[in-house]
Amino acid sequence: MTSSIVKTVCPFCGVGCGINLKVDEKGMLTGVEPLPNHPMSHGKLCEKGWSTAYAINPDNRITEPLKRIKDHFEPITWDEALDTISSSLKDVLEESGPAAVGVISSARATNEDNYAAQKLARAVLRTNNVDHCARICHSPTVAGLKQTLGSGAMTNSAKDIFATDLILVIGADPTENHSVFGGQIFEAQQKGAKLIVIDPRVTRLAKVADMHVQLRPGSNIALLNAMLHVIIKENWHNRDFISQRCEGFDELAKNVEDVTPESVERSTCVSAEQIRQVAKAYSQAKSAMILYGMGITQFVSGTQSVIGLSNLALACGHIGRPGTGINPLRGQNNVQGACDMGCLPNVYPGYQGADSTDTQAKFSQAWEGDVADQPGLTSLGMTKATLAGDFRALILFGEDPVVTDPDQNHVRAALKELDLLVVAELSMTETAKMADIILPAASFAEKEGTFTNCERRVQHITPALSPPGSAMGDWQWMKALAERLGSNQLSWLNSEEVFNEMTSLTPSYQGMSYEAIDREQGLQWPCNQDAPEGTDILHRNSFPIGKAKLIPVHYTEIDEPADDQYPLLLTTNRLHFHYGCGSMTRKSPLLEREIPPGVLFINPDDARSLKITRYAPVGVRSRRGYIETRAMITDDVPPGLVSMPYHFKEAPSNQLTNTAQDPITKMPELKVCAVAVFPLPSG
Ligand code: SF4
Repeated sequence: MTSSIVKTVCPFCGVGCGINLKVDEKGMLTGVEPLPNHPMSHGKLCEKGWSTAYAINPDNRITEPLKRIKDHFEPITWDEALDTISSSLKDVLEESGPAAVGVISSARATNEDNYAAQKLARAVLRTNNVDHCARICHSPTVAGLKQTLGSGAMTNSAKDIFATDLILVIGADPTENHSVFGGQIFEAQQKGAKLIVIDPRVTRLAKVADMHVQLRPGSNIALLNAMLHVIIKENWHNRDFISQRCEGFDELAKNVEDVTPESVERSTCVSAEQIRQVAKAYSQAKSAMILYGMGITQFVSGTQSVIGLSNLALACGHIGRPGTGINPLRGQNNVQGACDMGCLPNVYPGYQGADSTDTQAKFSQAWEGDVADQPGLTSLGMTKATLAGDFRALILFGEDPVVTDPDQNHVRAALKELDLLVVAELSMTETAKMADIILPAASFAEKEGTFTNCERRVQHITPALSPPGSAMGDWQWMKALAERLGSNQLSWLNSEEVFNEMTSLTPSYQGMSYEAIDREQGLQWPCNQDAPEGTDILHRNSFPIGKAKLIPVHYTEIDEPADDQYPLLLTTNRLHFHYGCGSMTRKSPLLEREIPPGVLFINPDDARSLKITRYAPVGVRSRRGYIETRAMITDDVPPGLVSMPYHFKEAPSNQLTNTAQDPITKMPELKVCAVAVFPLPSG
C-alpha cells in the first residue's frame, strides 16, 4: 500500500468545505488539510474541520454489533444481529402493523444512505414513519418556502454575499455554526456590503454589524410585519415584481395595515425608529440577501416566521437575482440532502407528496412492489406514540435524540418503552446506551456517496480508509436487513447504483452522475435537462408554483413566557468548537480544551441580582427538568435572557427545553423556555 491523499467533504456543518484526508502506507489517517480552490471553502477550514481525524479515530469506535443483555452489551455477529432485528420487526409488524415501526435517518449520512432509509421504511416496512433531525432544525423552512416559492431550500449561492449590497442575518450565528461562511460574511462586509444582524444575543457578527436589532426572543413575526407595514406605507415595495410574479398582495397589505412600528415596540423590544431604519435599508438596497437559521424556525410560530421572511423578500423583489434571496443556513453537512431524499413522513425523494396517489403509483412501479399509503409520524410523533403504546420498534442511525431532542426525560421514558431499539453509530452515544442492538457504522471517510450542502451543491465522496472491525456503511446494513425481511428492493451492488436509482426518481437531481459531479466540483440542484450544469440561483424567471404566494402571517406569543416561578428566558445556542450532540467533536482534545463541558451565559445584571459570580456553579430549573452547570457572565445576552449550548451530555440543556410545537411541522420550541437560575455552593 502507498500513502495517499483523498479529496472529500468535511463531515460537520452544512457549509460542506472541501478537505483532503492524508493516509499513510498502513492505511491510517495521518492528517487533514483544506482543499485548495474549493468552490465553497477556498482553502479554508474552521477548528472543527481541522479536527476531523479525532472524530473517526478507530480507538474509540464501535467495531462489532452489540446486543443488550440486561444492563450491559455483549458482542455478537452480524448474522445474529440481523436475525434478532428482523425477527423482532416481523413480530411487531404482525401484531401491530406498519404504523408501529419507524426509521430515523441521519443528516450526517450520505444521500445514498438516506435514500435507502426511506425506501426501507416505505417499500419494505410499508410505513411513512420516517424522519430525521431536520424536524428540529429546518422543517418549517421546507414547509414555509414550499408554500410561498415552491421550493424549500437556499434560493441563492453562498458566493452571492460578494455580489450583494446588504446582508440581513436573522436568527443565525454563522461565525459559530457555519464558521468558514461566517468569515466570508465578515469579508463581504469589509468589501462594502452593509451588514444587519437581527438577534436577541450579541453574536460576533452583531458586534461588527452596521446595525444590530436586538429583538425579544420569539417576536420575529411582529418585527417582520412592522417592517412590511413601513415598506408598503412609504411605497418602498417593488410594484412591478409583485404584479408580475406574486399573488396575494392586497391581503398581505391589509394584514399589516395596523401593525405600525409603535404598536410592536413592546412585543419586540425594538424601537419604532430602528424598525423604520431596517425596513428602509432592506427595501432600498439594490440587492439584499436574507440569511437565517434556527432563531427563525425553532418556535411554535416557526413556519409562519419563514413565510414572514418570504413575504418581505418578495414584496421588495429581492429574489431571483444575484445577491438576493432567502437563504436558510442548514445545520448538518447533509441535512439538505436528507430532506431532498424524502426522509420526512410527508414527502418522497424530491418533495413528491407522500399522500399523493400519483406519487405512490410512481414509486410503487419503480420499486416493483406496494408502498406505504397511510400518513406517517414525525420523530417527535413517534416518541409520543410510543408513550401511548402505539409505536413499538425504531431503527435509528447517526442521531442522538436523548441529547438533541427537547425534554430529555420524556425522550428517555419513550425509548425505554420500545420493544426494539436499533442504533447504528460510530461510537457510544446516550441514545445508543438505550438500544437493544447497536450496529457498528462506517464513517464518511470509509464510504462512497454524496452530500448536499446548504447551497444545494451535491458533492461526491470516496473512501479513504477501511471501516474498523466489521463496521459497515448504512445502506449496506439496510440492504442486508431488507433481505432478512424477504425483500430484494435494496439489493444494490454499489453506491453508484443507489445514486442512479435515486436520480431517476428525483426530478431535481435527474441530470447528475458521479462523473459530472466530480468534473464540476459539485452540482447545485435543480440539475436536469433544462439545467444540465446545475442552478446557482433559483426562481430567476419563474417559480415552480407559477406565481409566488404572499401569505398573511400573525404574531403568536411564545408558548412559555417568564413568570414569577421561572423568571428568566432560556435560549439554546451552539459553539464554534462543537457540533451537534458532541459525539464527534468532543473526541478532539484540542476542541475539548476550549470550553468547559456545559456553561450558562448570563447577563451581569442578572448575575448580580442572583448573587452569581464568574464560573460559579449554578442550578437551572424548568418545568421539565433540572441541571447543574457553571455561569459565564457576559453582556452577549441581555438582562432577562440566559443561553446554553446543547452539545454537552454533562449539562444537557434539553433537560429543560419545551416540547410545545409548531402546528404545521411539529417543530418544538427549542429556542425559548422559562427557567429559574440560582447559585449553588462552590465545592
Ligand atoms: Fe467543516 Fe463547517 Fe467548519 Fe467548513 S465551516 S470546516 S464544513 S465545520
